Amino acid sequence: MLGLLARPARAASLLQRCASSAAAPAARGHVKIVEVSPRDGLQNEARVVPTATKLELVRRLVAAGATCVEAGAFVSPKWVPQMADSPQILQQIAQQRGVSYPFLVPNDKGLAALLDIAGPRGSAPGQTDEIAIFTAATDAFARANTNCSVAESLERLAPVTQRALDAGLRVRGYVSVVGGCPYQGDVDPAHVGAVAKALLDMGCYEVSLGDTVGVATPAAMLAVLNECTRHAPVERFAAHCHDTFGTGLANVLACVDAGVRTVDAAVAGLGGCPYSPGATGNIDTESVVYALHESGYSTGFDLAALARIGGWISEEIGRPNGSSAGRALLAREAKAQRDAQKETRARL
Ligand SMILES: [Zn+2]
Repeated sequence: MLGLLARPARAASLLQRCASSAAAPAARGHVKIVEVSPRDGLQNEARVVPTATKLELVRRLVAAGATCVEAGAFVSPKWVPQMADSPQILQQIAQQRGVSYPFLVPNDKGLAALLDIAGPRGSAPGQTDEIAIFTAATDAFARANTNCSVAESLERLAPVTQRALDAGLRVRGYVSVVGGCPYQGDVDPAHVGAVAKALLDMGCYEVSLGDTVGVATPAAMLAVLNECTRHAPVERFAAHCHDTFGTGLANVLACVDAGVRTVDAAVAGLGGCPYSPGATGNIDTESVVYALHESGYSTGFDLAALARIGGWISEEIGRPNGSSAGRALLAREAKAQRDAQKETRARL
């Protein structure tokens, strides 16, 4: 990469292409990005972020091209204080047509609270058209996270899903720790396939395969995907990769190569996993969008705008920007601005 950038013409064209999704080649089709930073990201950050900042984050992401933003979670504020303001978020979000704002719902109580605000689909204001439910690939992780086995969690989720479907909502399912479990270690890909099938059978339109701990390799993700696609077409699965061991982007690209067309990511790589020491955040949206655009896929995102959002939210929550792609883009933008100012001063 350094060698390429040393050549000015190549560097200029690369920068131009980085600056806007409109300039990116779209020969290989579209990949939908589910922006999970307001929920999966901020839920796992130590600091509780003000409601206004979360709303602004969602607004900026949509303005930068996001068509699906996981906006909050109707979970117990006692256990997850970072998500305590999700009812206000749902009420106050300025929803744009054509954009989904799924909220994570762990149980019937959470769904009831969401429906109290949202009402059946189509009843504005404050409507959302989608919820997300979650279970895990291992009993050990399910017990730590939801205090029950995987089988029990599936039993509990079935009526929640049915009630959501009856209310006209779409339901997205998550399977956590598909690539490795902090308690159990190795995870059997066939077991992930069975859990994913159970979620699809209960009515989820899509299952997001979460390498929650960020330990998977491309081969491991593909083994999981192979087992899942025994039960349903690849279009029904999304890749949700974390970057603890630096394999997040490679895992995403391997899944996309294998036909996955929905990828979860968080701007600035926000997030982590409270149950797994040292786990880093989600794969950053900036590097995913950069790599996909450079590989000929479209995402609908304006990469330069996305990088600015990553810089802004990192400052807001007082942590380093976790996206190396974002930091590079911002550094280049700052240099271009300094150069422009110098030129202006030189002319005066
Ligand atoms: Zn995640």
